[in-house]
Amino acid sequence: MISILNVTHFLFKPSQFYAVEGIAEAAQYADFFNNDQLTSMNCVHVAAPGMSLLVDASNERIEPDSPTAQQNVPQPPNLLAQLAANDIAPADITHVVITHPHTDHISGLTCNVDGQWRPIFANAKHYLGKADWDSQMVQTELQDPSTVIAQTLKPIHDAGLLVLVEGDLDFGNGVQIWATPGETPGHQAVRVQSGNDVTYIIGDLFHFPLEFTHMDWLVTWKDRPSALASRQRIMQAVTTEHAHIIATHIFADTASH
Ligand SMILES: [Zn+2]
Repeated sequence: MISILNVTHFLFKPSQFYAVEGIAEAAQYADFFNNDQLTSMNCVHVAAPGMSLLVDASNERIEPDSPTAQQNVPQPPNLLAQLAANDIAPADITHVVITHPHTDHISGLTCNVDGQWRPIFANAKHYLGKADWDSQMVQTELQDPSTVIAQTLKPIHDAGLLVLVEGDLDFGNGVQIWATPGETPGHQAVRVQSGNDVTYIIGDLFHFPLEFTHMDWLVTWKDRPSALASRQRIMQAVTTEHAHIIATHIFADTASH
């Protein structure tokens, strides 16, 4: 069973994140690029045989008076409250897959207890793409205690809970990790199969619904060749398998196929 836990939503103006001058249809889609788009922050819980899996853990909160808050849409409860509402305690989680170590996807992995950062999902192995761990960004930030990387990945690593994933990984219970580099070098997606029902939890492989019909629209920080190859790989599988898609920043009702 798959539960989508949207822990916050915020406004995101696409023109700030694309190199719009390089997009041929930019003028035609000016409304999209130049207006705030309401964006979700979906963490996902998967209950599979022998597994209570959390995909990404976000503690992002948007203050109601923030300029990035949509005034008329109340903010949802935080991740732990939503897990509790599903009768899931942090200690029940057996696996955490980190799609990639950007702050919004990892800020809910640890909490500060008496000045010490501690893993919240203390019984879970945490699966991170090795290429992300090895990246210069992560290795640099690990050295600086003020960074979210140092406050999350380091205590998880030090507790022996971090598993570095190279390529794909099959858990053997219908759940797999697929390497989908592009957003970051180690970005990964999760494929869940239950009978004939297949779902891909794709993290930040796509940021906006329009990217599904404009596969070459990429936010500026993506590595173009690997992002395009990853999108192709996932969408080919989605089409063949008539699969569902859950993307972190796309509201569930617009993300499903
Ligand atoms: Zn993100």
